[in-house]
Amino acid sequence: MINLYEIEVVSAFEAAHYIRGYAGKCARLHGHNWTVKAIVRGEELDELGMLIDFKILKAELKKVLDTFDHRFLNELETFAAENPTAENLAREIFQQLAASEIFSGSTKLHAIKVHESPNSSVTYHE
Ligand SMILES: [Zn+2]
Repeated sequence: MINLYEIEVVSAFEAAHYIRGYAGKCARLHGHNWTVKAIVRGEELDELGMLIDFKILKAELKKVLDTFDHRFLNELETFAAENPTAENLAREIFQQLAASEIFSGSTKLHAIKVHESPNSSVTYHE
């Protein structure tokens, strides 16, 4: 039998964007309070009985989100060639966070869930 643990932390940031080429009001400059959930999976706990310390995971997620916080997303180099949609943001956050040294062995970033509003979200997996 395999023990599989899944832990989640949530953080948030505020930023402005617009969607190029969109026929509707999202084509105009506006802001969101983006809520981002990081979901980590693994099979082995450390000597304390933890997969990853929540505090460490949260700090690592915050480090990535700080690069977007209070920014105009369209003018970031990351989004020079594509729209800063919730989908593209989720992929970008995933790739930046997945590269962190806090993950090792079977413990990996499983998904990033980006909420653009309480009722609309995107989940990105790799
Ligand atoms: Zn928007």
